[in-house]
Amino acid sequence: MGLLDGKNGIIFGIANKRSIAWAIAQAVAREGARLALTYQGERLKENVEELAEKLDKPAILPCDVTDDEQIGSVFQNLKEEFGQLDFIIHAVAYALRDDLEGHFVNTSREGYRIAQDVSSYSLTAICKYALPLMKHNGGSVVALTYLGGEKVIPHYNVMGVAKSALDMSVRYLAYDLGEHNIRVNAISAGPIKTLASAGVSGFGKMLKHHQENSPLKRNTETAEVADTALFLCSNLARGITGEIIHVDSGYNIMGMSM
Ligand code: NAD
Repeated sequence: MGLLDGKNGIIFGIANKRSIAWAIAQAVAREGARLALTYQGERLKENVEELAEKLDKPAILPCDVTDDEQIGSVFQNLKEEFGQLDFIIHAVAYALRDDLEGHFVNTSREGYRIAQDVSSYSLTAICKYALPLMKHNGGSVVALTYLGGEKVIPHYNVMGVAKSALDMSVRYLAYDLGEHNIRVNAISAGPIKTLASAGVSGFGKMLKHHQENSPLKRNTETAEVADTALFLCSNLARGITGEIIHVDSGYNIMGMSM
């Protein structure tokens, strides 16, 4: 018996085999979930199709989360394919490279808008379109966030502000959707080397600092994040909503580096 037997889920955010979303896809599929995966544009289609061969024939759909029409069409497709939806993984973020180095004070209006649109507003847009497919049986929405939305992390800059808005969106959505028994939570992952994190200036230094100063004295693994996402999607987490769970070797509790 798998933890997610009979459940249907959709995963946003697979770019390649290092993606946190890919680790989550493998974990939830292992526990019996039927999946749909999305890809951002033709450039990433082949990657996602290749990875999908390792799963049990997931639906594969294009979705740029800045485009309401594409989000709408994803959920129209899911309505036909699955009928009902039980969980959503939101593992999507983007900011202009120039805004992930130097000083936050230099962030452009357009750079700020883009980071908020892709990395924060998209969660609300996705929930809006998903609601008709989830409201009868309840479900679970899980977003990926980072400590840079709570505390200042040098170079994380505009993405930290977007994560802060994402964290608050999680709480407002948890309140709104609670009446439908839909839970909304986020996982705050420690730094992991991926395509997105490679864009943050000084990321190697961050990894080293995290390893040396976290209580567990090691970096975060995608599989640890994936297992927490699995838990949040399962019935084991039925009493948890509006929560930001840190999966970061405990780094966030520290007030001083040694
Ligand atoms: P990743 O590059 O593998 O994933 C980011 C994904 O966002 C990609 O699949 C990309 O296609 C997608 N994306 C960007 N713009 C999009 C758009 N307009 N429409 C649709 N998709 C779009 O990197 P990752 O590290 O696995 O990132 C996944 C999530 O985890 C992000 O929210 C990220 O902020 C978060 N996170 C990452 C770390 C880390 O250190 N890697 C730590 C904490 C949180």
